[in-house]
Amino acid sequence: MTDYYERDSGLSHQRVNPMEEPRFTGIQTFMRCPLVTDLDLLDIALVGVPYDGAVTNRSGARHGPQAIRQASAMMRSIHHVHRINPYELSRVGDVGDVQFSSMYDHAAVVADITAQYSRLAQAGVMPLSAGGDHSVTYPILKAFAADNPVALVHIDAHTDTWDEFSGSKFMHGTPFRRACEDGLIDPRRTIQIGIRGAQNTAEGWDYSLEQGMRVVFMEEFSQLGVAKVVAEARSIVGNHPTYISFDVDGLDPVFAPGTGTPEVGGLSTLEALSLLRGCRGLNLIGGDVVEVAPSYDPSGNTALVGATLMYEILCLLSESRHQRIG
Ligand code: MN
Ligand code: MN
Repeated sequence: MTDYYERDSGLSHQRVNPMEEPRFTGIQTFMRCPLVTDLDLLDIALVGVPYDGAVTNRSGARHGPQAIRQASAMMRSIHHVHRINPYELSRVGDVGDVQFSSMYDHAAVVADITAQYSRLAQAGVMPLSAGGDHSVTYPILKAFAADNPVALVHIDAHTDTWDEFSGSKFMHGTPFRRACEDGLIDPRRTIQIGIRGAQNTAEGWDYSLEQGMRVVFMEEFSQLGVAKVVAEARSIVGNHPTYISFDVDGLDPVFAPGTGTPEVGGLSTLEALSLLRGCRGLNLIGGDVVEVAPSYDPSGNTALVGATLMYEILCLLSESRHQRIG
């Protein structure tokens, strides 16, 4: 660990590296990283987006960032499989939560998220976010993919390409429809993995397929296995700038019950980790873990799963960025 992660302790007047302190101590930030306000000091920003005003059913993902921060104290530095230490390759910090001018006005929420992530984009800082419901990914992409549509690796029980719900075009089942319409994602460089669960209309599934997205329903995932799905994902996104969006309801609720729209028969945590590890070396521009709603999981495990997924994605982002800058 470098000096970057050390801070002065006001009590002991010593330099302290939070990563080397007992994990039950200190003020909670994502991964025990420094809280950073000067974007010039950052390569990768860990961001909370505590918004769940766009769900179709159970709310609670607004508490995702705080729960993930707390659970993320369990994370350490060096990945046990690929030996990436994300903190040695990049300067990683927690920039806090998105500020909302009005949490009751969804258009204002979209504008606020877009504006605040645009600051990160302008500063050349890569975002790794904790939602929040999945509607937050659309404004993130508005900030980071405005000029060029990105490739997308999307893990979820739902395609989130529906047109609207309850009269709103901006909710957690529509972000990738809007992103597609706005040219923020390239549907032919998009793969959606883990899709399942009955719907009242097939319109979202059909839209994804009509646009040329690769939709891997859960049954096909089981038949193919992780390695083949990884190989296909890699060939679909190629070397194109790629965003990873992970909705924890893509996991089976046995592993992640703390979410708003659980669907049984999903990915195991080990399959999900293997999928992410298979994305190593892609040309990544950012990622998110969304839909952690901790109140439905008194065990706290969903937050731990969310924190672990963030750490896995952080390793990929940090190495990808490092390789890009040479
Ligand atoms: Mn989703
Ligand atoms: Mn979902």
